Amino acid sequence: MIDLKKITKTYDMGSVQVEVLRGISLHVDEGEFLAIVGPSGSGKSTLMNMIGCLDTPTTGEYYLDGKEISTYNEKQLSKIRNQKIGFIFQKFNLLPKLSALENVELPLIYRGMTHKERRQRSIDALTKVGLEDRMNHKPTELSGGQQQRVAIARALAGDPPVLLADEPTGNLDSKSGSDVMTLIKQLSKEGKTIVLITHDNEIAMEAKRTIIIKDGMLVNNSIA
Ligand code: ADP
Ligand code: MG
Repeated sequence: MIDLKKITKTYDMGSVQVEVLRGISLHVDEGEFLAIVGPSGSGKSTLMNMIGCLDTPTTGEYYLDGKEISTYNEKQLSKIRNQKIGFIFQKFNLLPKLSALENVELPLIYRGMTHKERRQRSIDALTKVGLEDRMNHKPTELSGGQQQRVAIARALAGDPPVLLADEPTGNLDSKSGSDVMTLIKQLSKEGKTIVLITHDNEIAMEAKRTIIIKDGMLVNNSIA
């Protein structure tokens, strides 16, 4: 499903070039639940942005479903993102003026669905994350854990095969964090391909496979 071959990412900082990813090769099977763990600044978010087609590598190749997409332009990448990838971030990134339901509906507009279909899918997604009784609440009227579950519903509503979660429990207390992890594990059982990024070893243990990133390189293919 996801195949990275010798990916590098260099940022040009004027006088210096900073190589943030240094030759990452990684294969993620369809339906796999992988955690990428590593300290702050090791390149985790840069790698996730690459996998999620939010960014392109400086060198190396990225195959998604067998297609080489590292050379795609922004328009092509945005199409891939819309069809294949659901994102969950540490910050929930909900729009404060919209209800939970409207937040979930919004990105579906780019998938060319009718309003009726968008609404039904969003209700289904919010029900799946256990928020059927909170759909008309605004983000400020919800707890952090509930806001993250709205963000997960938003990621799920388009039914993407791949879910990318970058420190999804980073802003949550331990109870809400463990609820979110229970939900992510359930989605894995239902067949989603999941890449979970975290600096927290305990959270990483929830995944089926864990790899470690350090200074922009994968240092080990398993800590289990
Ligand atoms: P992590 O998510 O593991 O904490 P990041 O991928 O966010 O790490 O960052 C890795 C390194 O790349 C850091 O040193 C960071 O400062 C640098 N970096 C990230 N994004 C940029 C950018 N857009 N421009 C320059 N440097 C960046
Ligand atoms: Mg990060």
